[in-house]
Amino acid sequence: MAQSHVLGLPRIGAKRELKFALEKYWRKDISQTELQQVAAKIRQTNWQSAKDKGIDWLTVGDFSFYDQVLDTSILLEVTPERFEQGLADNLLDNYFRIARGSAPSGSQVQPSEMTKWFNTNYHYIVPEFKKEQQFGLNTALLQPQIEQAKTLSKHLKMQLIGPVTYLFLGKERDSAEFDKLSLLPGLVKAYQSILDYLNQQGIQWVQIEEPILALDLDDAWLNAITQSYTELAADTDIQLLLTTYFGRIDDKFDRIAELPVDGLHLDVIADGAAQLKLVKEYWPSSKVLSVGIVNGRNIWRNELRRSLATLQDVKQHYGDNLWLGSSCSLLHSPVDLNSEQKLDDELKQWLAFAEQKVTEIAHLTAAINQGETAIKEALELSDKAVASRAESEVVNNRKVQQRLANITDIQRQRASEFEQRKVAQKNHFNFPLLATTTIGSFPQTDTIRQARKSYKSQQINQAEYTQAIQQEIRQAIEEQESIGLDVLVHGEAERNDMVEYFGEQLNGFAFTQFGWVQSYGSRCVKPPIIYGDVWRKQPITVEWSKYAQSLSEKKVKGMLTGPTTILAWSFEREDLPAYQIADQVALALRDEVIDLEANGIDVIQVDEPAFRELLPLRKSEQAAYLEWSVNAFRLATAGVKDTTQIHTHMCYSEFNEVIDSIARLDADVITIESSRSDMELLQTFNDFKYPNEIGPGVYDIHSPRIPTTEEVEKLLIQAANYIPLEQLWVNPDCGLKTRTWEQVRPALQNLVEAAKEAREKLTA
Ligand code: GLN
Ligand code: ZN
Repeated sequence: MAQSHVLGLPRIGAKRELKFALEKYWRKDISQTELQQVAAKIRQTNWQSAKDKGIDWLTVGDFSFYDQVLDTSILLEVTPERFEQGLADNLLDNYFRIARGSAPSGSQVQPSEMTKWFNTNYHYIVPEFKKEQQFGLNTALLQPQIEQAKTLSKHLKMQLIGPVTYLFLGKERDSAEFDKLSLLPGLVKAYQSILDYLNQQGIQWVQIEEPILALDLDDAWLNAITQSYTELAADTDIQLLLTTYFGRIDDKFDRIAELPVDGLHLDVIADGAAQLKLVKEYWPSSKVLSVGIVNGRNIWRNELRRSLATLQDVKQHYGDNLWLGSSCSLLHSPVDLNSEQKLDDELKQWLAFAEQKVTEIAHLTAAINQGETAIKEALELSDKAVASRAESEVVNNRKVQQRLANITDIQRQRASEFEQRKVAQKNHFNFPLLATTTIGSFPQTDTIRQARKSYKSQQINQAEYTQAIQQEIRQAIEEQESIGLDVLVHGEAERNDMVEYFGEQLNGFAFTQFGWVQSYGSRCVKPPIIYGDVWRKQPITVEWSKYAQSLSEKKVKGMLTGPTTILAWSFEREDLPAYQIADQVALALRDEVIDLEANGIDVIQVDEPAFRELLPLRKSEQAAYLEWSVNAFRLATAGVKDTTQIHTHMCYSEFNEVIDSIARLDADVITIESSRSDMELLQTFNDFKYPNEIGPGVYDIHSPRIPTTEEVEKLLIQAANYIPLEQLWVNPDCGLKTRTWEQVRPALQNLVEAAKEAREKLTA
């Protein structure tokens, strides 16, 4: 019989119970015992539900109070030395200190770095290694979970990040230089102890995860895989399911086939099932092959009939050794579609969240084992969903499709080259050297939040809401005038979120009530769902921008979110290639840009903070992505006159790999994050001879600290070493919505003052 399993379940809870419990615990509103109870209840609900649905193997170790990589560090006793000072009274508080710098007990400390988990929006805590790193075994956080799972099932599988991926994701942090690969032998020994421990606990399988296999790896790392698994598998009775996800690994099949592990899990969603055609040439039928056939990262209902067809071949070949599962952990899916009360029924039948995905895995397994009649009803519903979506008018819009088909290269090209536009813009705007501006948002005060909330719940009407927001805009403009900034913004008071705001006003987007996905720690995001062709019903930002501009003699920037970012932070359609969705969004934005221009807004910023984030893991796929992403941006922005200035903003600081694509965006001005890197990243722009204008962030808005005039001036003078003065702008790192006016006002005053002084010094 084929077996079913899930790579991991969401742990945040259907109503974000863990988030609220964590935050209460951190505020000392509840005890650690109460927090543990909430956690145990979430695990219990998850396991019971998987069991009831007929899943054969329950997964232990998929729960985490903050992050699974940090859990692994705790398990291996990898804790940076600085945490030893002011140690907390208990392990969990020390765990929180590493994750976030503080906990109810123990002293404050600089937390470990956090970064994105492969190409997802989940963030992990980066392990820190020293040269003489020792590895141990501390099972205190895991033990209660195993004990709890044992009360539910004898068929337990442990989810564990593999040694090579763990090492790969960590950072050398020592005064002495060393290569972290030198730590591998010790690490493998520690993993042997983990496996021994799990074996004693009666765990039968370990889902040992090596997602780095889906990256381009050099020989040193490939050898590390071979070496680790040869040793680990030789010395244990426990069965190892080598698990990969987020991409294809068929370029490494020959090497993987030689590993003495007992099973292999493939993500056949990320690669469109291409690997399945190849795998049986390499992977013997005497071993387990687990096929990740239900998408763990998107929200569409599985097309059961198509999945069964895909599985036919491997079913014949692997027989009882075939496992079916999710492509990756369901951590990246919202929890339960049944929580949604407001979604349109038509759309709802096309969707599956984690709970529904578990059922799909069970259904597919039942159909493989007992024939399609075993899931007759489920198959019919799935067929019906497929058919209704293909024909649905809310999905397919002829006009949009025609417009898409008629896009020409000319539409992606500004009328003149930047060299010419520069001159036209200089005459038109006459901005000073080192012109000062901000990134868009101003503090989101309680008044703003209250106004938006009252409007949503219909406590105030449209006119009252407009007035409230206009009042905020007026204040923001007055503040900026008195601070003396050169190019103003309206402040984005009407926006709760830069993607949600546009999604709400575009056709083809839907919003859930509880579709939360963990981003980091207790923080969750609720991405919109792009379900149909995207088009703009009416102008979105024009009235706000016009109003703002009417209040000042100075230029007020229009403020839009770019196509790639809108895509990256949404659940996207799978029935259209990404470039087409991006172009649909771009066309809608293009209309908005042109409307803004027609209404007298001639500085327009199109933010692309997710530009880097969507970059594919494999080099071979990067060029195609960069091509459509750049194309979409240009389609959105190129329809304006030479004298209209297009700005863009990106909030991160690694540009090396993508600098030529950034130049190809052909934005007149780009603002970037850089204050924390002491302007060093400008070297990239300098080396590349980035031709357009650039505003390196000189005020780190991620901290409440107010930078002094001297600090900002110093950064500006440093920046001028890399970027010609005529090309330099002066601005903060990012939007100011998370700050207070008490912080922002003096910081911006200092920034304006610093620009003035730097102007004098640098032109003297
Ligand atoms: N315009 C946006 C803001 O200022 C940009 C935010 C971002 O880069 N993430 O809030
Ligand atoms: Zn930013």
